[in-house]
Amino acid sequence: MVVTIDTVIRGGTVVTANGTYDADVAIDGEKIHAVGERDSFPDADDVVDATGRLVLPGIVDPHVHVDDPFSADSYETASRAAAVGGTTTLIGFAFQRWAGEMGVIDGDDTLPEAIDAAKERGEDALIDFSLHGAITADDPAVLDDLDDVVADGVTSIKMFSTYDHGLQNGFMQRVLERLAELDAVAAVHTEDDSVCQMLTERFREAGRGDPEDYPQSRPDYAEAMAAEDAVRMATEAGAKYYGVHTSCRKSAEVLAAFRDDGSMVRTETCTHYTTLDDTVYEEVGNQAMIAPPIRTPDDIEAMFEHLSEATIDVVSTDHCGYTLESKTVENWWDSTFGANALQTSLPVFHDEAINERGFSYPFLVRAMCTRPAETFGLSGKGTLDPGTDADIVVFDPEESYTITADDNESVADFSIYEGREVTGRVKRTYVRGELVADDGDVVGDPGHGAFLERDIPDWSP
Ligand SMILES: [Zn+2]
Repeated sequence: MVVTIDTVIRGGTVVTANGTYDADVAIDGEKIHAVGERDSFPDADDVVDATGRLVLPGIVDPHVHVDDPFSADSYETASRAAAVGGTTTLIGFAFQRWAGEMGVIDGDDTLPEAIDAAKERGEDALIDFSLHGAITADDPAVLDDLDDVVADGVTSIKMFSTYDHGLQNGFMQRVLERLAELDAVAAVHTEDDSVCQMLTERFREAGRGDPEDYPQSRPDYAEAMAAEDAVRMATEAGAKYYGVHTSCRKSAEVLAAFRDDGSMVRTETCTHYTTLDDTVYEEVGNQAMIAPPIRTPDDIEAMFEHLSEATIDVVSTDHCGYTLESKTVENWWDSTFGANALQTSLPVFHDEAINERGFSYPFLVRAMCTRPAETFGLSGKGTLDPGTDADIVVFDPEESYTITADDNESVADFSIYEGREVTGRVKRTYVRGELVADDGDVVGDPGHGAFLERDIPDWSP
C-alpha cells in the first residue's frame, strides 16, 4: 500500500498514441503510478501545476550520433541537449572497426568491443540510452559475434551502402540472413555509392562547390536505388528491415511497396526532411550538409503523406554534434556531414506538424515516442501507461520563441534552424521520475541515464 507518492503533475492535457484527455499524472519512484483524478491518488510530496500544458511521453530518438565518428558530443553534452529538448531515450551507435579515413575511430575493435566501449562512454548520460551495432567492413568474423551482441540487448544492426565503411550487397545479404535467424533488426543507410561518387567527382572537377550543387551530388534516385536493393534483400532473407533517414518521395515509395502487411518493414524520416527544403543550402551553406541531402518541397509533402498513411513510422534526428570549425574547410565538399538537432526536434516538428499542418497530438506521439519504442524493443518507453518508466515531457503549446544556437547544450555551435520562430516549448523533462530539465535549464545529473538492453521487437501487425 503506497502511503505517499513522489510527484503529481496536475491539470494538464495528457497525450498518448491513442488520444488526448484531461488527467493528472502520478509518479512514484521511477514509474508512472497512475493517470487519472488527483483525488484518487495518495498524497504527493511535489505537485506540479500543468494547467494549459500538455503532458507527453518523453521523446524516443532512435538515431543519434554521440561520441562516435560522426559526432563530437559526449554522452553528457548530447544528453543535456536531449533533456532540454524533451528527449528521454536515445539510441546511439557502436561502430565496429573503422575501415575509412573520415573518422576518429581507428584500430580494430570488434563489434562486441565497440559496444562495451560505447556503454562506458555513456556512463555520463543524463537520459537513458541504447545502442545500435554498426558493421563497417565486409569481414565475416562479425557474423559469429551477432549472437552475443543481440543477446546483450543490442537488437538492431546498422549498415551503410555508401562511404568507405559501406558494405557490398553480397556481404550485406549475409548479415541480413544472420539477423533473420536472430529475429533482430537491420537498419540501413541507403544511397548508391558509385552514383554519388561519380556525381560528386563530376562537380568537383567542374570546380563547382556551390551549396546548391550538394543535393544534386547525392540525388533522390540514388537513395531509392539503394533502398530497393536493401529492402529487397531483407525481404528475401526474411529479416526485419528499418529504412534509415528516408528523405524523398522516391525512396518512401520503394519502402511502402515492400510493406505488405507492415510486419517486416519500418521506415524512418528525420525532423529536417519534414521541416526544411533545399533552399536551406543557400541560407546556411554546408552547415546543412547532411546525407541524404535535404530535398524539395514535394519531398516534404511526401514525408507527411507517408507519415499519415503509416508507411513512414518514425521521426528521428540523425543528430551529429559537429562544430562550425569542422564545417570550415577550403573545399566545400570536404566538410563534415551532419547537423545537430536533439534540442530542437520536438519544438520544430511540433510547430510544423501541429501548428502549420493541423496534425493531431497523438500523431506526433506515435511518430516520436510510441513507434520508435515499439520498433526497437524498448518496452516501458514511449507511453504514459501506469507501471512504465516515468519519462515525461510537460509542454507549453502556446509559448513562442526563436531558435538560436546560443542556447545549445550540445558542443555544436550552430543550428540549421537558427532564427526560426516556433510556437510550443518544452517546460519540464522527467527521466524515470527525475526532473532533468526545467524551463530550458539542465537540472539532471550526469550518470542518471542508464544503458537499456532492448528486447527483440515484436513487429506483428
Ligand atoms: Zn546517422
